[in-house]
Amino acid sequence: MSYQQLEVRSVCKRFGGVVANNNITLSVPQGSIIGLIGPNGSGKTTLFNSIVGYHPIDKGYIRFEGREISSMRVPKIARMGLLRTFQQTHIYGKMTCVQNMQISVPHTSGGFRAMFSKYPPEVTDKAESLLEFVGLYMKRHLMAGDLSFGQQKLLEFAMALMNEPKLLLLDEPTAGINPTLINGLIERLKRTNADLGITLFVIEHNMRAIMNLAEHIYCLAHGELLTSGPPDQIQNDQQVIDAYLGAK
Ligand code: ADP
Ligand code: MG
Repeated sequence: MSYQQLEVRSVCKRFGGVVANNNITLSVPQGSIIGLIGPNGSGKTTLFNSIVGYHPIDKGYIRFEGREISSMRVPKIARMGLLRTFQQTHIYGKMTCVQNMQISVPHTSGGFRAMFSKYPPEVTDKAESLLEFVGLYMKRHLMAGDLSFGQQKLLEFAMALMNEPKLLLLDEPTAGINPTLINGLIERLKRTNADLGITLFVIEHNMRAIMNLAEHIYCLAHGELLTSGPPDQIQNDQQVIDAYLGAK
């Protein structure tokens, strides 16, 4: 049996009267690519926010590499190697790709330093090699705001990799990406897992993409875990099909 890098046990999260997550239990084995699907509003983003320490949970616990992280905040959890990316991108449009990469490294003083390129050469080398990894090397000196939306998402992904995460949570990586570029993105995510050894836990709306990417998929509906299984089983699961049809 593989080692469970992330363990979510009986997690509940409420916003006023809305139960966004109810009694969610799931695990992410080290080295795996795991999917999280479910109709809009089913609680996927809330679960990611709880895992990375963005808000406290009401019940249950979350363990990362055997340590309870339920009451830790974002920076501490990030330093342990657990990071997320967002459904909307978080980049600085008036800085170049390389500068965005430089300021994403922890323990540096951010904006001004990058503007005056006072970063050690190894940070810049790492930034450039990761930009190459995501296919943005030729654009490295362009302003991030001048990239296409899909390229901005790749940049944000590369920025997360600057921090050398052990487990990366990706919230809808293919959303807003030109359909012709989705297969390339999926291959890149697979290489991130295989070549860089980073575990991926991925929320995805594009069914074909997540079926191709993940080895195991959890499906949420109305804040609860509906079912889980390998992609071919989830794809044909009547409960999953009904949950999606019911939400439209
Ligand atoms: P998903 O990512 O699956 O689309 P979310 O986790 O964003 O779903 O939302 C789950 C439910 O929790 C929704 O009903 C949403 O309106 C509610 N919710 C999410 N975040 C907040 C918040 N910060 N304040 C109040 N309600 C929220
Ligand atoms: Mg969401």
